[in-house]
Amino acid sequence: MSKTLIYIAENYAEAHMIQANLNDIGINVLLSGEHLTSALGELPAHILFTRIYVEQKDYFNAKKYIDQYKQAQKNSVKKELSYWKCFNCNELIPENFTNCWQCNKENKQ
Ligand SMILES: [Zn+2]
Repeated sequence: MSKTLIYIAENYAEAHMIQANLNDIGINVLLSGEHLTSALGELPAHILFTRIYVEQKDYFNAKKYIDQYKQAQKNSVKKELSYWKCFNCNELIPENFTNCWQCNKENKQ
């Protein structure tokens, strides 16, 4: 099975969001660094520039998604992402996450 690099995400959170979206449309995704254990509380949240790979056969569809994604990113560039602060470890978490990626505590605000 040959894997093709489809996108380099700026961070782990972005990589995971793209992975989830691609999974939704039936595409298997491999993230670089994913061999690190992702046991609860041990998510490598601060890995920068996570590489996203897909299988060769999925490349076309994945590319289509990525192009749309990039376009959407461009359009929303002015919109600041808001964050909430974890009460447990003070990590700043994007609002679209319901749990802290550092310690996995739920947002209690
Ligand atoms: Zn936390």
